[in-house]
Amino acid sequence: MPTPHPTLKLIFDALAFAAEKHRDQRRKNAEAFPYINHPIAVAHVLIHDGGISDPVAICAALLHDTLEDTATTGEEIEHRFGPAIGRVVREVTDDKNLSKPERKRLQVAQSSGLSGSAKLVKLADKICNLRDMADAPPVGWPLARRQEYFDWAKAVVDGLRGVNPRLEAAFDQAYGRRPV
Ligand code: ZN
Repeated sequence: MPTPHPTLKLIFDALAFAAEKHRDQRRKNAEAFPYINHPIAVAHVLIHDGGISDPVAICAALLHDTLEDTATTGEEIEHRFGPAIGRVVREVTDDKNLSKPERKRLQVAQSSGLSGSAKLVKLADKICNLRDMADAPPVGWPLARRQEYFDWAKAVVDGLRGVNPRLEAAFDQAYGRRPV
């Protein structure tokens, strides 16, 4: 029997790791979807909308919220998935010691300086977040807050442009559904 391809093993290891880390978390929409649906959607967008096959970007997409939203450490990710994936996950992680407005400001200020793989993950993340914001918004977010989120995401993505035209087009389409 042929053994599984190493890339397939790596990707499913990242998926299983993320599922375990996010196992008790739910999204903020009314139906409280399982949190893991989000990283899966981000990896799916990379592959299906962006045509990306780079396992570093795909694994980093699956793991992209583990540092920020669970007790996972960067060392843990690096030890299990290697320095390249670890670096990208760190790049797309906000510093939780900073205030929310400062973190949001830094995402805009720093997006153009990210590595290519980090830009891809961030683009796919923002696409998914806008799609969710349009289809299944967080409970209790008034119109102005949702509009502000769309505009902030666009400001971040404007710093990511030039890395993948297909993902940019998918983002622009998602932004086209800005609530009015
Ligand atoms: Zn995310």
